[in-house]
Amino acid sequence: TLSDRLTSVFSSLRGKGRLSEEDINATAREIRLALLEADVALPVVRDFIARIKERSRGEEVSKALNPAQQVIKIVNEELVEVLGGETRQIRYAKNPPTVIMLAGLQGAGKTTLAGKLAKWLGAQRNTPLLVAADLQRPNAVTQLQVVGERAATPVFAPEPGNGVGDPVEVARLSVEFAERNNHNIVIIDTAGRLGVDTEMMRQAADIRDAVSPDEIIFVVDAMIGQDAVNTAQAFLDGVGYDAVALTKLDGDARGGAALSIRHITGRPIMFASTGEKLEDFDLFHPDRMASRILDMGDVLTLIEQAQRTFDEDEVQKMASTMASDEDFTLDDFLQQMMMVRKLGPIGNLLGMMPGMGQMRDQIDNIDDKALDRLQAIIQSMTPGERSNPKSINGSRRLRIANGSGTQVSDVNNLVTRFFEAQKVMRKMKSGGMPGIPGMPGM
Ligand code: GDP
Ligand code: MG
Repeated sequence: TLSDRLTSVFSSLRGKGRLSEEDINATAREIRLALLEADVALPVVRDFIARIKERSRGEEVSKALNPAQQVIKIVNEELVEVLGGETRQIRYAKNPPTVIMLAGLQGAGKTTLAGKLAKWLGAQRNTPLLVAADLQRPNAVTQLQVVGERAATPVFAPEPGNGVGDPVEVARLSVEFAERNNHNIVIIDTAGRLGVDTEMMRQAADIRDAVSPDEIIFVVDAMIGQDAVNTAQAFLDGVGYDAVALTKLDGDARGGAALSIRHITGRPIMFASTGEKLEDFDLFHPDRMASRILDMGDVLTLIEQAQRTFDEDEVQKMASTMASDEDFTLDDFLQQMMMVRKLGPIGNLLGMMPGMGQMRDQIDNIDDKALDRLQAIIQSMTPGERSNPKSINGSRRLRIANGSGTQVSDVNNLVTRFFEAQKVMRKMKSGGMPGIPGMPGM
């Protein structure tokens, strides 16, 4: 990964005052490769690298981060910035209906997105109307009707044989229909072709002129990689659009298309589609996309949050527990639960790391009260019981429950959970636990 490569670039740098020109160039090379691997278009990569170089020159080597992490942090911040900073919201029309038009190549995911949008908007107390303005493919109308049913949203479509065969006319009539029937949002699904084509562009432009959409959303498949730039530019010239929806982000594309499109068109990316189901949909989050492009998963966030939240002593303690050959005890169990709780969101991140997921399950659903109770129970045990939990038999459990003001079932529960956690810890110690970069002592 980029992280590994940068770490090796900087292996000699520790302790120097500033990033040298040589270090910066070596870094730029690695970032350039990473971006190209993520399918970012070459001119976009060039501009981006220039920004990174510029910024890296002024940087002091920080105490908290090693140089590789520091550069990754800069790259990430710039990526988030270029990808659009904050998430952009839909602009609603002053006088309803708000008209949203979807445009894009065939197979990009327009019809699916139309359903997702309808469902999402409907859940926010809107009364959307889906419009079948794709009359190109024979089954396009039926497909939208199926989607509409799933999204519990009515579909405006030409009746077979009533003579309305013109998508522009359908779109125009749909807006009138929405006004009469109190639909505050109209989502127009349009036709696409496999490639960019002037007739398709003209049709989309005609629909646009007929209904003056409040938002035109260009829908693009994240998997098409480098081609995304040309397609995005062609639609910008041919139809124009206000925002972009990126689909098929559930695939293994790293999503460099997002960066290219944002950079070249200047249009914000608004939505992310991550699957075939209507629920697989979210607002676009530049920060998530940035770490995806850098291909470092959530390690980046983990580093940052870890530095903010961990204090060195606790880290040392936890690290030595994890590294020691001694078995995991009830004291360790309590200490880890308190720590993960204190970390809050980072606890979730830990859950994403191999091995830690099971740990997280142990800790989930424990609120402060439950944690107090756990603490009371463990403190009612003798040191001998804590280091040798197997010795905690029935009569001891009763004594511990009485001592801690809990029920025997609470004690049973805790002991069971502890043994599960112990099993996980043993597995991790026997080699399943990856190092956490950036955490001192690990
Ligand atoms: P359209 O031609 O632009 O209307 O595209 P469709 O909505 O018909 O989608 C084309 C294909 O891509 C269909 O098989 C969809 O189920 C699938 N699809 C759409 N969006 C996504 C997505 O986000 N992830 C995945 N995996 N498939 C998608
Ligand atoms: Mg379609």
